[in-house]
Amino acid sequence: MSTATTTDPQPHILIAGAGLGGLMLGASLERCNIPYTIFERASTVKPLGSALSVGGQIMPVFEQLGLYEKYVDMAKPFTMSTDIRESGESLPALDLEVAEDMCGYSGYIVARPLLYDLLLSQIPKHKILFNKRVLTISEKEEKVTIQTSDNSIYEGAILVGADGAYSAVRQRLYDVLKKEGKLPRSDQEDLPFNCTCLVGQTEPLDVDKFPQLKDPKHPFINTLGDNKPFTQNTVAWVVIEHLTENTSKAAQEQRFRHSENSEWGPHAAQTMCDQTRDFPIPFGNGKLTLGDMYDMTPKDQISKVMLEEKIFKTWYYGRTVLLGDGLPLRATSYTPLVAKVPSQQCMMR
Ligand SMILES: Cc1cc2nc3c(=O)[nH]c(=O)nc-3n(C[C@H](O)[C@H](O)[C@H](O)COP(=O)(O)OP(=O)(O)OC[C@H]3O[C@@H](n4cnc5c(N)ncnc54)[C@H](O)[C@@H]3O)c2cc1C
Repeated sequence: MSTATTTDPQPHILIAGAGLGGLMLGASLERCNIPYTIFERASTVKPLGSALSVGGQIMPVFEQLGLYEKYVDMAKPFTMSTDIRESGESLPALDLEVAEDMCGYSGYIVARPLLYDLLLSQIPKHKILFNKRVLTISEKEEKVTIQTSDNSIYEGAILVGADGAYSAVRQRLYDVLKKEGKLPRSDQEDLPFNCTCLVGQTEPLDVDKFPQLKDPKHPFINTLGDNKPFTQNTVAWVVIEHLTENTSKAAQEQRFRHSENSEWGPHAAQTMCDQTRDFPIPFGNGKLTLGDMYDMTPKDQISKVMLEEKIFKTWYYGRTVLLGDGLPLRATSYTPLVAKVPSQQCMMR
């Protein structure tokens, strides 16, 4: 048994999941000198994802972590948002600069892999353990104990479930509460998918062929280009298929059949890529399709993501607390490049 805590004067925090939530918490604890260990089920970190919009109200956290300059350097201010119709017509823009007046900071869009790397760089290597899926949890005598998939056992003072939308920690916690008759009815209901998405980021593009990348004003282009490129003139794209009650159920069954959500990679994404490749997008010379975006994106960096829409009421009990998508209050914050696909009710951002 690993008992990292027995000699620590401070409580040791166990964190399940090395997603953005787990890493952000780790980076904060590191800064405060509070002992912690992160357990991640994956064997390695994949540079997956499109872009994330971080609202101005979150920016002080980066400041407190001493990461503000680095973050701003790799991101683009998110000052305007526009939807573009399939025909190329722009809808009225939403001015987000007012948000800066309200909270003192501009929001910023950043490529997920870059933000991930920045947070990961704050965590000393020995404090993040890969290939450690958290399987069981128990509490006794002011300690919480977890068992991981390699049969190791760890003890700590607090367990944080930062293990995503299908959080095993939440599941175990809810099992206990259910047995004790303390789990609210709404928390016992399924977690419905609201949409599925493909996410990816192209290789760096030629700005003469894609002049939108130089436009500092247009929100979707603004975040991607100009002389301080979003990430060296690449396009971070998202294709969203909105689901109905029926198609949501079908997607859920498929997920559990193929464990798609734990895979995230190109295999799970391929069918959706095939189904949407012909959809035209108002980008480049105006004759491009989603298929062109897929072809300009390294295959192993296209992933499929399920988005769920549910608000859980219970977020802590005993020595366990949930964080991030583990208690899905998920703000679906995908950002750049938008076009609608009426036939399939898809969106490309
Ligand atoms: C691959 C990927 C790509 C994404 N791309 C985008 C994007 O482009 N734009 C956007 O806005 N959002 C994206 N998201 C979602 C966004 O990152 C999250 O919604 C948000 O950061 C909340 O993160 P989280 O840490 O709560 O959960 P997640 O980011 O889902 O992280 C959960 C982590 O826990 C691990 N885990 C799961 N179960 C266990 C277990 N039992 N034991 C140990 N570890 C476990 C998972 O492997 C994962 O690393 C993406 C998420 C992922 C995982």
